[in-house]
Amino acid sequence: MATLDLRPLGNTGLRVSSVGFGASPLGKVFGDVSEEDAFAAVREAFRLGINFFDTSPYYGGTLSEKVLGKALKAAGVPRDQYIVSTKCGRYVEGFDFSAERVTRSIDESLGRLQLEYVDILQCHDIEFGSLDQIVNETIPALQKLKEGGKIRFIGITGLPLEIFSYVLDRLPPNSVDVVLSYCHYGINDNALEDLLPYLKSKGVGIISASPLAMGLLTESGPPEWHPASMELKLKCHEAAAFCKNKGKNISRLAMQYSLSNRDISTILVGMNSIQQVQENVTAAVELESSGIDQETLSGVESILKPVKNQTWPSGIQRH
Ligand code: NAD
Repeated sequence: MATLDLRPLGNTGLRVSSVGFGASPLGKVFGDVSEEDAFAAVREAFRLGINFFDTSPYYGGTLSEKVLGKALKAAGVPRDQYIVSTKCGRYVEGFDFSAERVTRSIDESLGRLQLEYVDILQCHDIEFGSLDQIVNETIPALQKLKEGGKIRFIGITGLPLEIFSYVLDRLPPNSVDVVLSYCHYGINDNALEDLLPYLKSKGVGIISASPLAMGLLTESGPPEWHPASMELKLKCHEAAAFCKNKGKNISRLAMQYSLSNRDISTILVGMNSIQQVQENVTAAVELESSGIDQETLSGVESILKPVKNQTWPSGIQRH
């Protein structure tokens, strides 16, 4: 099997695989997962060329970090061969972006991950906090962690796109290395596209997460907690059925759609089994060799047209 391409991550010097391993499912966020399946999925990811793994203390109330840590250790791959990102500021107990909390947070995460450093530490879902605190307190605290060698790069994540420019415009260049946007570069919502030139001009690495819109673009559908409107859920269900009737899989098409834009360094997809890893890597390899199935894509796009770029509220409402 051909392997995944590696893409530069902004100015970090890191080269990330085009498909990244989202480890929130390892925290049982999308349903039960055995440790055996989790370990096997991580091992298969390495075998097929995935070198980027993303987690957070929030996922499964620290379970995702613990399971990922054990799985990485069990895989036995040298530490300089893979990239790990985790997050700070969001916990099952709530949000806390204070310097004191995020400084303590990295030590807790490193313990659970059984690592001496993480490659990227990201402020998790900053729209739930004060963006001015992120600029004036949280990022400076992370810069100290960078100097101390516990983290190599700094990132910010969240859903509303305007948070990224708010923060980046108020900091000196190269204070933030990476942004992680989710649910905004997929077939149903590609609002991130308009922001790409700006992000590139800032030299930040661009991670786009949730290409399957957190389960909307799968045959089995989203989890109970999914925040989309019923209208959006029904339209995605219709699109999945349309693909299935044609003998196609909506998740493969959705992965290929997201992977097509090379300004995005990596597409972070949540995975919990060997089968899902193989399926998503196959999607990437097939895209390189044969391109996307334009006819099925056009059909799906016309079904989803009434809900194009429909999103949901997240965080403190600022308008
Ligand atoms: P996703 O769109 O990647 O969907 C994940 C769901 O799809 C899971 O149920 C998974 O088991 C399933 N799946 C994966 N591959 C499949 C396939 N080929 N066929 C059918 N089903 C498949 O959503 P996500 O997991 O929320 O996002 C990916 C990752 O990005 C997360 O795990 C997390 O690491 C990161 N993320 C970060 C933030 C943030 O920082 N705020 C937000 C969302 C996601």
